[in-house]
Amino acid sequence: MPDSGSSRRAFIKTMGAVAAAATCGRAAAQEYKPQEQKKLTQKAARYQPQPKGNEACGTCPYFVFPKSCAMVEGEISPSGWCPLFTTFSPLDRGAHT
Ligand code: SF4
Repeated sequence: MPDSGSSRRAFIKTMGAVAAAATCGRAAAQEYKPQEQKKLTQKAARYQPQPKGNEACGTCPYFVFPKSCAMVEGEISPSGWCPLFTTFSPLDRGAHT
């Protein structure tokens, strides 16, 4: 069978490509660190240092005492506000039936 050599070479070449792809995928997965995701800049979040009506960072679940936010970088005032404001705890999302 004159063709077995070339099909074997093709098979080996294919397996090499699959192995390389799998290795790349694994490396990417190991580098994924969700805890290191960047926060939004204050400008991107359209943060303002004043409250909006009765909504303020101090009552938002993303606010981190004393002056930061889980979603927005930099110094955050408890009396500031941004459009991400919510009163709904991120831990509760999807838990209601
Ligand atoms: S209102 Fe915006 S900036 Fe303030 S704590 Fe909530 S998410 Fe952070």
